[in-house]
Amino acid sequence: MFKKIFKEIKKYNTIVIARHIGVDPDALASQLALKESIKLTFPKKNVYAVGNGSSKFSYMGKLDKQEDFNNFLLIVLDTPDKKRIDYHNYKNATQIIKIDHHPFIEDFNGLEYIDDKASSTCEILMELILKTKLKCNDNIAKLLYYGLVSDSNRFLFDSSTSKTFNLVSIYLNNYNIKLSNIYTDLYLRPLKEVRLQGYISLNMKVTDNGVAYIILTNDIITKFKADSASAGNMINNFNFIDEILVWIIVTEDLKNNNIRVNIRSRGPEINKIAEKYNGGGHTLASGARLSSIKEAENLISDIDYLTEKYIRRYEHENK
Ligand code: AMP
Repeated sequence: MFKKIFKEIKKYNTIVIARHIGVDPDALASQLALKESIKLTFPKKNVYAVGNGSSKFSYMGKLDKQEDFNNFLLIVLDTPDKKRIDYHNYKNATQIIKIDHHPFIEDFNGLEYIDDKASSTCEILMELILKTKLKCNDNIAKLLYYGLVSDSNRFLFDSSTSKTFNLVSIYLNNYNIKLSNIYTDLYLRPLKEVRLQGYISLNMKVTDNGVAYIILTNDIITKFKADSASAGNMINNFNFIDEILVWIIVTEDLKNNNIRVNIRSRGPEINKIAEKYNGGGHTLASGARLSSIKEAENLISDIDYLTEKYIRRYEHENK
């Protein structure tokens, strides 16, 4: 499949690289890395990385303006379903390639490379570059490392396999990647966010089934001078708490007129419930966008019921 993907890349003069709405480091880094690699390999091609960015990740590089291109190859990264593609003109692509590590949702009717065992889309690109004539340099390697280390949550998830470590080892050997700089870029944060994290720790509720949740209204976010994405970005910091099996952060986002939900789990598979609420994601890491707090309360109660069933099954199996 990698050879087929390379052949398509070679064929087109205009290539647009898109990814999912609600940008995150794996989506953005994979997009920028692939753009740079194609440009390095084929300097004459017009390659565009499109979608809404975030100033938080500006250290990774710049995106291109969304335009209506003609006769173009569209490469969609890190996105399992069409409704989440962050490029308005995706339907007019001459050919589409999807490269993703989410569980399959729908076919884009082009070339599909899905590896839901991969830690990240950047991990898949590491392999794509190694197995084809696509070129790489220090900056591309750094971008790929940003995405991989973010989506694997610093190699904490089971999605970090021997293949992941092999690929990382090859890239660390071949390119100049300064790890401490990468971690500073990814994890340095303002004190106000740490204070907001303290607020969440003190105020989250925990159900009898070990589901922790907090609903952050715009007033609370404003009080901490944080923005609506801040709380969601710290969701992984609530891992490894003995009494908590699943945790949910609900944030009111007045600017976009919706309610953001971030969900993480140490056991129950939560993505089907996220899908029921206009969201999705991985089995243990999902998100959703809702239109009301009431909907968020329903989602929390569905997750609590799922967790209760999970605990009962676990206890039954371990009798
Ligand atoms: P997050 O909590 O935003 O870090 O997202 C965790 C995972 O869920 C990622 O794989 C996201 O792509 C996915 N995800 C987040 N929000 C949504 C959504 N509204 N719809 C579908 N998938 C989502």
